[in-house]
Amino acid sequence: MERRYYQPEIETMPLEKLRALQSERLVRQVRHVYENVPYYRAKMQEKGVTPDDIRGLEDLPKLPFLSKADLRDGYPYGLLAVPLSDCVRIHSTSGTTGKRVVAFYTQNDVDLWEDCVARAIVAAGGTRDDVVQVCYGYGLFTGGSGLHGGSHKVGCLTLPMSSGNTERQIQFMMDLGSTILCCTPSYAAYIGESLKERGYKPGDNKLKAGIFGAEPWTEEMRRDIEASLGIKAFDIYGLTETSGPGVAFECEEQRGMHINEDHFIAEIIDPDTGEVLPEGSKGELVFTSITKEAFPLLRYRTRDICVLSREKCSCGRTHVRMSKPMGRSDDMLIIRGVNVFPSQIETVLLNEGYTPNYQIVVDRVNNSDTLDVYVELPPEKFSDTVREVSQWEKSLASAITTMLGIKPIVHLVSPKTITRSEGKAVRVVDKRKLV
Ligand code: ADP
Ligand code: ZN
Repeated sequence: MERRYYQPEIETMPLEKLRALQSERLVRQVRHVYENVPYYRAKMQEKGVTPDDIRGLEDLPKLPFLSKADLRDGYPYGLLAVPLSDCVRIHSTSGTTGKRVVAFYTQNDVDLWEDCVARAIVAAGGTRDDVVQVCYGYGLFTGGSGLHGGSHKVGCLTLPMSSGNTERQIQFMMDLGSTILCCTPSYAAYIGESLKERGYKPGDNKLKAGIFGAEPWTEEMRRDIEASLGIKAFDIYGLTETSGPGVAFECEEQRGMHINEDHFIAEIIDPDTGEVLPEGSKGELVFTSITKEAFPLLRYRTRDICVLSREKCSCGRTHVRMSKPMGRSDDMLIIRGVNVFPSQIETVLLNEGYTPNYQIVVDRVNNSDTLDVYVELPPEKFSDTVREVSQWEKSLASAITTMLGIKPIVHLVSPKTITRSEGKAVRVVDKRKLV
């Protein structure tokens, strides 16, 4: 028997009831952080708000925003809202040195997070008869353990593969008859290609669905993956700060992702003014986590640009749907699943004695991201010796790899050859056309 919902009463809750639930939880959450997190208390006091001012959903805009910078400020324990002894887990963003954010979980936080992921798995058609192959990375990254926990909740047979070792992924997929594949969309595409190279046809595997997320992907990419693996591909969205994947997920409609509104209140704001925008507007997505105990975030600015829709969904779920993120309001790039800020690359260049005349080119070739960094040689380093230049390129590439965790191709070019701009320098050329 196919189970359409994991938690039917919640997932199909009438809007009025859902709003009342959100209001009640918000009021409680605001009190919780005010009483237990000095950082929040100070921020609220600065804005002249006390928990008494927050009586329901309509008072949400009175609260101050929280940003990644606040989380970095508070690193590591500054935003913790419960004693450390109540926490059972830590995860961290895929970002790198200096940009890392750590998030804490109580057992209850882990439970609720896994429920959210379980909803996504059931929405993708998952039941206890399924074999779920999890090839998101395990470890600090939330992808692996998030999908793993959700899969357990549904009662699926869970294959904790983690990422990489494609040969083994394919062998297990075939031998153990995986029916649901969970990984980044780029890895799914790569697995699809690898299967083809080995002479498999889409019908040769037992896969029926895939749950892919953690990075932007297009409808074209979805069609490619669906065709090469012979599956239906579902999107899943989340961020470490709000627990991980499962904040929102696609249903069989595949038209936007339902946000788990019993746990997260979503707002769309104008990224420049902070003004809350009316329903249907395109803007920055802001989340308030109303059930998290250890690391609750009030009005957290995700920097993801998208649109929310309350249009009735044929799946019966009442929770609001978010569009695929259409870009970011900061300059963060997601390359091979890793968060990259151009400023990090700039820091390395300056540390290594280069000038800040550079250009970052990101592309997607055969569904895999490429990162090329063009850097001008400083005049004093200018050399005709190819061997010397290629050695410098290698050493710079390795310094960048240490900083980012992913490997770029560095091209050292002659001084003054990177176009100077009259306005804002064009540091990043993203050719991936993900939106
Ligand atoms: P994760 O651990 O899931 O990668 P991070 O906190 O490192 O989470 O990064 C979160 C960011 O990843 C989001 O703010 C968003 O920009 C991006 N992201 C996550 N899921 C998706 C998705 N399904 N589609 C597009 N972007 C996504
Ligand atoms: Zn739906």
